[in-house]
Amino acid sequence: MEIKVMQADESQQKPKPTDEFDLGFGDILTDHMFSMEYESGKGWFDARIEPYRNISIDPAAMGLHYGQEIFEGLKAYRGKDGAIYLFRARVNFERFNRSAKRLCMPEVDIDLAMEAMKELILLDKDWVPRTHGTSLYIRPTMVATEPHLGVRPSNAYLFFIIIGPVGAYYKEGLNPVKIYVEDFYVRATVGGTGEAKTAGNYAASLLAAEEAKKKGFTQVLWLDAVERKYVEEVGTMNMFFLIDDEVITAPLTGSILPGITRDSVIRIVKDWGMKVSERSLSIDEVIEAAKGGRLKEAFGTGTAAVISPVGQITYKGEDHIVAGGKMGELSQRLYDEIVAIQYGEKSDPHGWVERID
Ligand SMILES: *Cc1c(COP(=O)(O)O)cnc(C)c1O
Repeated sequence: MEIKVMQADESQQKPKPTDEFDLGFGDILTDHMFSMEYESGKGWFDARIEPYRNISIDPAAMGLHYGQEIFEGLKAYRGKDGAIYLFRARVNFERFNRSAKRLCMPEVDIDLAMEAMKELILLDKDWVPRTHGTSLYIRPTMVATEPHLGVRPSNAYLFFIIIGPVGAYYKEGLNPVKIYVEDFYVRATVGGTGEAKTAGNYAASLLAAEEAKKKGFTQVLWLDAVERKYVEEVGTMNMFFLIDDEVITAPLTGSILPGITRDSVIRIVKDWGMKVSERSLSIDEVIEAAKGGRLKEAFGTGTAAVISPVGQITYKGEDHIVAGGKMGELSQRLYDEIVAIQYGEKSDPHGWVERID
């Protein structure tokens, strides 16, 4: 399918941010967007890059009522050499298509989506920030658009990609977070939609996160929904623990989002010759290890933060300090390694990075 390109005229162009140290996350979007539409029996059509604009949607659009919505989150990085790099971007679209299947939505052609995304980034390449740690966030999204109020899969969809510059996640260095072990609310359960990046999972997680914030915590550590016993994820990140010399993360049993940063961490730590286990880990084992001084580090992983060190875990009213409340050695080493690969500064033995300009 051919991608039409309609460039924004002067009146449609927005002022670019002047302070790259104050970009924040998710408020600034560029001058253009990619869109295409789908109808049952017809497939995807009308692929276009056009000036960023409001979309018009029928109030009966099924996505607004029954939550058929999926998304992805990835980044483009500006290297010191001025070049623009993507990190494992195809894997994001493979995951997007798995989310689509789970939500009875049509898959997209990955080659087309990749081409569209690269063309969009290159058209708006002056928006890719240059300050160390900043990047261009990319948000592919699909939503059901058929106007119909009966519950069934929609016959029409809109796919779009919007992009925008985002700040360095850690402005004042990597500050470890305080996490609250949630033993009432749950994020997802096996057989549900936990492994899909779909809107409903996030809507369902908001109340627990708000209540934890009121108590002074940054994030919620989710336990499994059946027994409230095994650790799953932290906020919207996968979770790792270093106990003695074993790096442990929850297995992909269906309730956990299969993070690309998670997968990258597993492979790097294996390359380093460390012991990595994808296994069930009970919160009791974590707390026992913390009490016995064997919980060396804990950290979350995700595209936004890369590595988010945990400095305190609070469970059933008891606080447990992790790694002296500081960034641990492994967390720091992993952060440095992954960031260097993403910005094209370090050799890339797994072929994860693609230069696009
Ligand atoms: C996106 C996401 C992650 C992290 O995935 P990455 O591919 O590493 O960015 C982890 N958990 C949840 C719930 C997520 O939505």
